[in-house]
Amino acid sequence: MANIIDGKRIAGEIRQKLKEQTQEFFVKTNRKPGLAVILVGDDAASSVYVKNKIATCSEVGFYSNSCHLPASVTKKELLELIDTLNKDKNIDGILVQLPLPKHLDANEILAFIDPKKDVDGFSSVQAGNLMLGKDCLSACTPSGCIELIKSTGESIEGKHAVVVGRSNIVGKPLALLLLQHNATVTICHSKTKNLSAITKQADIIVGAVGIKDFIKGDMIKKGAIVIDVGINRVDGKLYGDCEFESCSKKASFITPVPGGVGPMTIAMLMANTLKAGNAS
Ligand code: NAD
Repeated sequence: MANIIDGKRIAGEIRQKLKEQTQEFFVKTNRKPGLAVILVGDDAASSVYVKNKIATCSEVGFYSNSCHLPASVTKKELLELIDTLNKDKNIDGILVQLPLPKHLDANEILAFIDPKKDVDGFSSVQAGNLMLGKDCLSACTPSGCIELIKSTGESIEGKHAVVVGRSNIVGKPLALLLLQHNATVTICHSKTKNLSAITKQADIIVGAVGIKDFIKGDMIKKGAIVIDVGINRVDGKLYGDCEFESCSKKASFITPVPGGVGPMTIAMLMANTLKAGNAS
């Protein structure tokens, strides 16, 4: 049976460390690191995510500004708010909660955030820095995955990592981070042929697809490290992309859903905000 990678505990330890670093930041700057979170509309899941981010800010001692705009907000009004936050010296990080209502182009809105405050790491500047291997604010969920892999004590270097999913927010940045850690990386996606022949070669396998139980135990190698990014809600219950029962019988380490990657995302968001603050 696989060892469970306890994301909840590891995220808690990161938040605890951040609390201490926040105090050092305060001593140095006489202010708290600040995060602004913009929510447009009333999507229930987004509201919960935003609430959790604001609550975590207060837990680690950050200043937070929660900006809730109606779904009918115009592009101009939203960009004006971002412009104000870009100039606000008490704000180190700006996050626009996605998805946005259909009349707003997320790429265009995100591009307006000052890259130095892009704590989600979604802007062309930060994504480009990651691509070039420069120091950057890298996307939070992928950074969290790296921390979870490191927590196993296994070295990433030289391992074959297979990332299933190529989104700009998870699959691609995670593949780049794994490459930075000297893994040999394969990215699989919806057009990949004979997927299980590839996943069976993985020392580290990441499920970032968004389909419940998509990766089964017979698709993975014995002793693989399984990182399950998927969050799939079925009948009110959360499931990952990796079928836990069959995968955990073959893996050496596995992240559960919930309690694996999920808690890491907010912890890494806080870490990015402090990093942006220290750089300002
Ligand atoms: P997405 O829909 O943008 O991307 C899904 C990817 O899966 C695509 O690149 C696609 O090519 C690939 N894919 C689809 N069908 C496939 C198939 N049959 N075979 C191989 N690849 C296939 O999703 P995303 O935003 O990257 O999110 C992926 C999952 O991770 C979702 O369940 C999402 O909810 C979850 N997620 C979790 C966190 C977290 O904090 N834990 C953060 C972001 C996303």
